[in-house]
Amino acid sequence: MINYFGKITLSIIKPDAVKNGYICPILIKTFNAGFNVKLIKTVKISKNLISKFYEEHRKKYFFNSLIKFMSSGIIVPMVLEKNNAVKDFRNLIGNTDPIIAKKGTIRNLYATSLEKNAIHGSDSNIKAIKECIFFFPNIINNIIKS
Ligand code: GDP
Repeated sequence: MINYFGKITLSIIKPDAVKNGYICPILIKTFNAGFNVKLIKTVKISKNLISKFYEEHRKKYFFNSLIKFMSSGIIVPMVLEKNNAVKDFRNLIGNTDPIIAKKGTIRNLYATSLEKNAIHGSDSNIKAIKECIFFFPNIINNIIKS
């Protein structure tokens, strides 16, 4: 796992982008930005489980709405590999609010609103590792030893 510290991030294509048909455009942009998709799956997640993922936001006014949204349809979690993965992917997706996100970023191009903002990207190297394990508990067998 040590070898991957700083070199992987967890992304999730959110239900709005899946419903709007943006899985492929987002994957192409991700590939063209130099990321290697190491693991990927489609899943519909329960409110209980996604609440654990967003635990840090539990006290925020938008928490219930965020949980309802994230459990409303298929999502696409993926482990992305690249040097400087966390920072570079945050730059690629843009600001949380698509109105503020720079032109050409994934959220600028494909988000629906501040909440339905198309994509997730880990915001630190520690969280990247934790979030990758959250969605891919077998990650050590699947990529570290491969
Ligand atoms: P991120 O790291 O850019 O995804 O942003 P945060 O960790 O701050 O928030 C997590 C997710 O909650 C965001 O990606 C949005 O989907 C949602 N969110 C953040 N801020 C707001 C807000 O002010 N209102 C609503 N409705 N949703 C928000």
